[in-house]
Amino acid sequence: MQPFSFQTVYLNKNEIMLDKSNFNNLTAEEKRVIINKGTEMPFTGEFNSWKKAGTFICRQCEAPLYHSDAKFDSGCGWPSFDEEIKDAVKRVPDADGRRVEIICNHCEGHLGHVFVGERFTDKNTRHCVNSISLKFIED
Ligand SMILES: [Zn+2]
Repeated sequence: MQPFSFQTVYLNKNEIMLDKSNFNNLTAEEKRVIINKGTEMPFTGEFNSWKKAGTFICRQCEAPLYHSDAKFDSGCGWPSFDEEIKDAVKRVPDADGRRVEIICNHCEGHLGHVFVGERFTDKNTRHCVNSISLKFIED
């Protein structure tokens, strides 16, 4: 068997997978959330109360999405961020006609939803993200 290698490009210190054939394989539960736009149960995700310093990257394509300094505790049960890494996250109208869905700008994997006007932080924005859509690289 040939050793498997990803074709990668370096952006800062993180690797981004260039094309779909190189994306990480997803488990059934990861697919349910990331591909089929599902939601993990609140207070169950591994990053909900995560406090380490580093960068959250896309589970599927490993594009950097959020820095830990944008993470705050909203008490909502999912990791919350008040700012994305520039141009990393795309906002699209949710199928429910009310909310704004957020997806990875690189692979279009589902992340969660973004809410504004709740006054949790000065940026007045809450990216409510499924832990399962993320991976973490410690500083
Ligand atoms: Zn992605």
